[in-house]
Formats: sequence, C-alpha cells, structure tokens
Amino acid sequence: MSTTPPAEVLDLVVVGAGIAGVALADIVQRAGRSVLVLEARDRVGGRLLGHRHGDVRFDLGATWFWPNEPRVQALAARLGLRLHTQYLAGDALFHQPGSAQRIDGNPLDTTSGRFSDSGQDLVESLANELAPQTVRLGAAVHRIAYDESSQRLVVSHGANTTTAAHVALAVPPALAAAKVAFEHELPERLRGLIEATPVWMGAIAKVVAIYPTPFWRAHGLAGAAISHLGPMREIHDMSGPNGSPAALFGFAPGQVGEPTATAEACLAQLVELFGPEAAEPSELVVHDWRAEPWTSPPGVERLTAYQLFGHDLFAQPAFDGRLHWCSTETATEAPGHIEGALAAAERAAHSILDTKAV
Ligand SMILES: Cc1cc2nc3c(=O)[nH]c(=O)nc-3n(C[C@H](O)[C@H](O)[C@H](O)COP(=O)(O)OP(=O)(O)OC[C@H]3O[C@@H](n4cnc5c(N)ncnc54)[C@H](O)[C@@H]3O)c2cc1C
Repeated sequence: MSTTPPAEVLDLVVVGAGIAGVALADIVQRAGRSVLVLEARDRVGGRLLGHRHGDVRFDLGATWFWPNEPRVQALAARLGLRLHTQYLAGDALFHQPGSAQRIDGNPLDTTSGRFSDSGQDLVESLANELAPQTVRLGAAVHRIAYDESSQRLVVSHGANTTTAAHVALAVPPALAAAKVAFEHELPERLRGLIEATPVWMGAIAKVVAIYPTPFWRAHGLAGAAISHLGPMREIHDMSGPNGSPAALFGFAPGQVGEPTATAEACLAQLVELFGPEAAEPSELVVHDWRAEPWTSPPGVERLTAYQLFGHDLFAQPAFDGRLHWCSTETATEAPGHIEGALAAAERAAHSILDTKAV
C-alpha cells in the first residue's frame, strides 16, 4: 500500500514581501512560528523601490518618514540604516503658465526623515534578518482555498501549493480582489470593501531628475514647487546628505484614460520652474505605478474612497480568524505610509500569535 506523506502545515503564509509582509514575518518568526513569504516579483520591497544610478539608489517609491512615526524610526535604528533629514532651506516656487512665481520661504516641505540608501534598503535589511529560505521570490499567489473542517488554508502559487493555519494578505486589498481566487467565498461586505479600497499612490507616476549638482540651492531655492498645470503637481528636493547625490522629484497623478506624463513634458516643466540648468539632468526617470501589475489593479485611478482605509473589517480576520489583512491600506494609524504598513503588520501578528501554533 502506498502512503502519501501528509503535507507540511505552516503556521503562516504571508502573501507579499513589501514592508508589511516582511515585518509580519519577522515578528511571527521571532515568536517561534513557521513562516513562508510568497512574493510575486523578483525582488522584495513592493512600493519601496530604489533605482540604481552609478553606485547610489534613488527612490521611485516611498521617500520620507515623519517625526510622529515611531515604528519606522525604531526599525531603521534597529537595522543601523543611514538616515538624513529633508532639505528645507530656501524659497519654494508656484508654477504659472510659462513661468514660476517665487514664494517667500518653503511652505511645501515639512520636517521629515530620509533613507540615505533608498527606502528599499529598509525592507531588504529586514528580509536579511529572516531565517534562510523564508522569502520565495517569483511566487505569485493566484488561489486561496479554505477547508472549514480542518481550518487549514491551501495557497496556490504557480504550480505549487502550501498549506497553512493562517494566511496574511500583505498586498493592497483591491489587488488581492483582482488577482486571487478565493475558493471559500469571502463574506459579502468584505468582498465589497476590498474591491473598493484605493491603492495608496497606485495611480501616481513618480518622476526623478538626477543632476550633477543641486544647482537650485545656489539660487536660494528649496527645490520645492507646486503646480496646478502639471504634469508634476508637486516637486521636492530629493538629494542625499549635503546635496550629494543631487536630485529633484515630482508626483504626476495618472488621469483616467490618459497616458502617463512623458519625460519630455516633465523636463520642460522643470526648465520652466528652475531655469536652463534644469535642462540637462544626468538621468530622468518616469516611474508609473499604474503600470505595475503587482501594485495596481486595472482602473486603479477610479478607486478614490480613501475613507475605507483602516476599515474595521480589515481587523477582523475572515475564515474563522485565519485570513488576515496587513497592507498599509488596512492600518488605522498612518494608513498609506510605511508606518501604516508596520502598524498593520503588528496588528496581524497579534491576532495570529493569539492562536495556538500548529
Ligand atoms: C510613489 C510613491 C511614493 C510614496 N511616498 C511615501 C513616503 O514618502 N512615505 C511613506 O511613508 N510612504 C510612501 N509611499 C507609500 C509606501 O511606499 C507604502 O505605504 C508601503 O511601501 C506599502 O507597503 P506594503 O507592504 O503595505 O505594500 P506593498 O509595498 O505594495 O507590498 C505588497 C507586495 O505584495 C506583492 N504581491 C502583490 N500581489 C501578490 C500576489 N498575488 N502574490 C504574491 N505577491 C504579491 C507585491 O509584489 C509587493 O511586493 C509611497 C508610495 C509610492 C508608490
């Protein structure tokens, strides 16, 4: 008689190796539970993404953290990351048709912290602290089945399946709704909620212009600008410590049915604002998060009900307390921010660690 060995049952499968998923894995693994993190992309970090330029990286995703965000600061300190503060000195600019009006001072930037080696470093450094083989890259989850009698979840990724006592969706809820087939129906209210919850920054293109020097500082400018004309609606200094390496970045919101802002249009706007020295960046990158299939579902621009962030239902695990939500959108504190992702991970970890290990 042939016997098939019973499938190994893990305490937790985490879907997504953004900062929320990796932080959750870190807490649960440190508590002695077995964890596997499945990540669709070939890198960790999700919306924390560093773009390599020579031997430095520039953030195409998150840039800042703020003084009232203790979790990010504690994590950065624990990991020994190099930090610096946002450049604030000088005047800001207001973009008018064909010209720039100088504003006295810089009301556009607030005191904030920056990761000197890119925000992706935060999540990479934390992932390096997990036990070997905890994170599997290139493993897109496409199906989650729940068996009520055994209270086990079976997670399908590619041609593989993994069985677990708990699953945490550390992905934007609307993306889970679009990409994952739930074999046990989600409660109707929860299904409606996840389909309607916006993806923070999911409809934005981030534009980074890298320059040999922060030339705007020499003119008494902060590198900050606001515009109702676009394509970038706001612009900020994104240089490293003491202005090196030098860069400006802007946010160009994606409009329904309209193509992404072109590099040429962004460059023309920078020249209108900052003068001819802005015309020759060493590199100009337009990174459209709408076009990232592992961040934004199709039609992401139409999701605008931001009041759904941190909704009560996200804190109530479905499937008899076994299916958890933990992306930044599900946090009640600082939803949308890195801080929110860390808060959501803590909340999901408590709820998982409150139940018995397998
Ligand atoms: C342009 C931009 C600027 C920002 N600026 C700031 C800022 O200055 N400060 C700040 O605090 N925050 C900022 N944010 C937000 C910040 O980046 C996010 O809050 C944070 O990174 C979200 O982390 P997360 O783990 O919740 O989600 P994500 O980073 O989106 O991680 C989700 C992960 O799940 C993976 N995944 C998705 N679907 C599947 C699947 N089916 N199977 C397996 N894996 C899957 C994805 O590949 C991804 O790695 C910004 C974001 C953007 C895009």
